Amino acid sequence: MNIDLIYRVLLEEMGSHQLIKEAPMRNYTSFKAGGKAALLVIPHNIVQLQYTMKVIAKEKVPYFIMGNGTNLLVRDGGYPGVIVKIGSTLSHIRVTGNMIEAEAGALLKDVADKALEMGQTGFEFASGIPGSIGGAAFMNAGAYDGEMKKVVEKVQVLSQDGSRVYSLTAEEMEYGYRKSILMERNEIVLSVTLRLAAGDRDQIALKMEDLNARRREKQPLNYPSAGSFFKRPPGNYAGTLIQTSGLKGTSVGGAMVSELHAGFIVNTGGATASDITALMKLVQDRVFEDSGIRLEPEIRIIGEE
Ligand SMILES: Cc1cc2nc3c(=O)[nH]c(=O)nc-3n(C[C@H](O)[C@H](O)[C@H](O)COP(=O)(O)OP(=O)(O)OC[C@H]3O[C@@H](n4cnc5c(N)ncnc54)[C@H](O)[C@@H]3O)c2cc1C
Repeated sequence: MNIDLIYRVLLEEMGSHQLIKEAPMRNYTSFKAGGKAALLVIPHNIVQLQYTMKVIAKEKVPYFIMGNGTNLLVRDGGYPGVIVKIGSTLSHIRVTGNMIEAEAGALLKDVADKALEMGQTGFEFASGIPGSIGGAAFMNAGAYDGEMKKVVEKVQVLSQDGSRVYSLTAEEMEYGYRKSILMERNEIVLSVTLRLAAGDRDQIALKMEDLNARRREKQPLNYPSAGSFFKRPPGNYAGTLIQTSGLKGTSVGGAMVSELHAGFIVNTGGATASDITALMKLVQDRVFEDSGIRLEPEIRIIGEE
């Protein structure tokens, strides 16, 4: 695979600071762990993003789209293709009445703050989720009483080869629990339009504060992590099953099942991706032995061992 060739071709359209060879992904993910990306590309606008996708398609290299890296682990052997990061350079937020259109790289917190500023309710649930709105629309992120499915009006999508921009309605996104149609298509979220409702600013602020206080109390936010590690199994909670199996505080190397919230695997310092995946397997096996339930990771794990 010709990463050097791709680097040279992309360099014609963007600055060298936007193209990072052998990028240490621990610096770009909330787990603060993991291997390198052969090439990390950070487009500064949609034209550069389209160009990047065209080059990737032409050269037929594997690629992965990331947002804020808060639900992502790159294995220690690294990702052998191109990781394209859609971040703060693609994060414009525009409000029209009760609709908010945000570019994919906008942080959920910033979108929620904008909704508060405009007196729009319905997005309070997302204010404490540390991801981008593109990642959230892709994953159908949710918390407490809310999920993206309930507020998305439409999602603007770029095809894999960068040639086509089109929109999907919330229904066409085929949302399920932490699931959307884009997971099968491997396409790219460019922007997300939310439909909110007029509300009272004080009430919105109170709700955001309340939800964030609950997070601070219940979640190990002082350690690097990727949030809840496992999906919620039907009719149960991953954290409860893990706690019942007596696994709180269990560790492998620098990875530990949080003492505060058993659904979180945290990096207590210097965890490798293989510490984290070894602990994941240990938890999966023990919970399966005890309950017959197989926990599946919610986070995305990519790259080579
Ligand atoms: C402390 C903590 C608390 C959390 N709490 C919650 C919570 O309450 N609820 C919840 O749902 N999640 C939670 N998360 C997980 C995470 O924040 C969400 O899943 C978030 O939506 C991921 O967004 P991201 O931009 O970081 O995506 P990334 O981690 O960068 O990527 C996640 C997935 O989204 C895809 N993706 C990202 N951007 C795009 C794009 N523009 N186009 C196409 N695909 C894209 C990636 O390919 C990948 O498959 C938490 C994480 C942490 C660290």
